[in-house]
Amino acid sequence: MEKIALVTGSSRGIGRAIAALLARSGWAVCINYRVRRDCAEDLAAQLTAEGCRVMVCQADVSDHAAVAAMVHRVEETFGPVSLLVNNAGIAGQALFQDVTDQMWHRYFAVNVDGAFHCTQAVLPHMLHEHEGCIINISSIWGLRGASCEVTYSTTKHALIGLTRSLAAELGPSHIRVNCVAPGVIKTDMLDALPPEALPQLAEDTPLGRLGTPEDIAYAIAFLADEKASFITGQVLTSDGGFLL
Ligand code: NAD
Repeated sequence: MEKIALVTGSSRGIGRAIAALLARSGWAVCINYRVRRDCAEDLAAQLTAEGCRVMVCQADVSDHAAVAAMVHRVEETFGPVSLLVNNAGIAGQALFQDVTDQMWHRYFAVNVDGAFHCTQAVLPHMLHEHEGCIINISSIWGLRGASCEVTYSTTKHALIGLTRSLAAELGPSHIRVNCVAPGVIKTDMLDALPPEALPQLAEDTPLGRLGTPEDIAYAIAFLADEKASFITGQVLTSDGGFLL
């Protein structure tokens, strides 16, 4: 099967680093974005200039029809997707009693339904080829409870359930499903935190620093590689020891 990857939410942050690393490692990569077309095209131009095969594709992952159309475009341009990285996600802080119906459902629509939509869209070809790799981005807050981030944490726990159950169901079809649980990674997602929280979080991390998007990209590249072909249903934590 050709090495064709779709990385959701890859115009910036962790997704951008994943798309760049995969493209530089020989994958044809679809850079998905929701609104920041300029950022996605900037990355695509950079990678194309380096000789990589990339395309950009707009879709809100919470929209099932838009995701189906995006996957169709990738298939027409490059061929069937053999690696899906469900990276797109939203986060935020609120006391549980302040969480509105709208917030609750939006977090689930992006973080959980998004992975469901993308996975369903790429599966027919993976099942046909009897090969494929799906990697979900959860979080350390998918493994541990998070005060004031109950909604986010619940969606990230759900992604781990999705990973394990799908890995069991798809194993006989030689499709591997794994998960990466990042610790505190320096991206725009941390902008919502007060600035003084960042040095404290680095101090709370045994390895003494915040993670970088590249740290997570390396974990993805490992799980996507042939050498990881006996690994499925796992959660790989990349957190500098934060959860220890
Ligand atoms: P980010 O906010 O920089 O990036 C999130 C990306 O998802 C953006 O490109 C955004 O446009 C995209 N996105 C959001 N909603 C979308 C939608 N409906 N459709 C398509 N794309 C959408 O944050 P990040 O830190 O790069 O986060 C990437 C992933 O890593 C997320 O799933 C996040 O939950 C997870 N994560 C991040 C951290 C961290 O500390 N930064 C820790 C653990 C897990």
